Amino acid sequence: MTAICQTCSKPATLRCPTCIKKGLPDAHFCSQECFKSSWNLHKLAHSLTPVAADKHNPWTNYRYTGSLRPVYPLSPKRAVPDSILKPDYALDPRGYPKSEMSMRGSTKIQVLTPEEIEKMRVVCKLGREVLEEGAKMIKVGTTTDEIDRVVHDACMERNCYPSPLNYYNFPKSCCTSVNEVICHGIPDQYELQDGDICNIDVSVYHDGFHSDLNETYLVGSVDENGVKLVKNARRCLDEAIKLVKPGALYRDLGNTISNIAESEGFSVVRTYCGHGINSLFHAAPNVPHYAKNKAVGVMKPGHCFTIEPMISEGVWQDEQWPDGWTAVTRDGKRSAQFEETLLVTDDGVEILTAKF
Ligand SMILES: [Zn+2]
Ligand SMILES: [Zn+2]
Repeated sequence: MTAICQTCSKPATLRCPTCIKKGLPDAHFCSQECFKSSWNLHKLAHSLTPVAADKHNPWTNYRYTGSLRPVYPLSPKRAVPDSILKPDYALDPRGYPKSEMSMRGSTKIQVLTPEEIEKMRVVCKLGREVLEEGAKMIKVGTTTDEIDRVVHDACMERNCYPSPLNYYNFPKSCCTSVNEVICHGIPDQYELQDGDICNIDVSVYHDGFHSDLNETYLVGSVDENGVKLVKNARRCLDEAIKLVKPGALYRDLGNTISNIAESEGFSVVRTYCGHGINSLFHAAPNVPHYAKNKAVGVMKPGHCFTIEPMISEGVWQDEQWPDGWTAVTRDGKRSAQFEETLLVTDDGVEILTAKF
């Protein structure tokens, strides 16, 4: 396994002596310079409570559904300069998105003006660029925290706020969901293993608008069913996108997705849904991915929303880790997901976050 410098991401052989002595997760550095320049942030990892420092199990009474474990400590919260425009929850102590909460329960779907659509095009292109930067980090031995750092820095370079950061106090700038994690995995010191599947979910905020997209990546050589699962999740999204046009019903997307998932013996997660996205990170409509759902809404030109089916190898049921975020499959089997932000056009759909 290649270790990577915490400061600059180059291959690294030096390890922090204090971390070794305290039995903390390995922190690697390529040079004394890089070690020194990260010291002020890195030393915070040395002063954790004994519970948080038990990297194999911070929650001693929790029964995990699979073999994945959180690897603490989390790195310190990453900074965002004052010059970057922030959503309302960014500086709220509880991370409450007040603008979103005031709309809760409303099923009214916003129709964007041409000016707003242009802003969505821009933020969605930036989101795609950021995801592609994160994806370059996918390899055996990379920690999910290193992916988060690259995603965060890519946001800063593009004058974007990473939408997940402090959203209801979410601690990191993206979600990384490995194997049995369905979604909302928190980047930590876990090192990607050969054969893992890992989803990176990126959302960014720029000029008053959010974008949201994710992909699941193969780490090293993944077994046959894992590859089949990931391909199936991609196909579920692609086929659902083909249905998007004015007059189509949001509730019908789940029928197509379920058919594709179940045709290969997979299941569709029901707890987490696609969503409207615009100046709010999550807005109407609610877009379930399972069959025979009762979602409200008819597609109209100017609607922006995500489709993001989570497809599981075994059962569709989920539960949450005690961190209040990480959603895992009940049976510990793997789950894969893909997501794009979409615009309903006069005669169909524009995939705003499309890979270029
Ligand atoms: Zn997302
Ligand atoms: Zn989303």
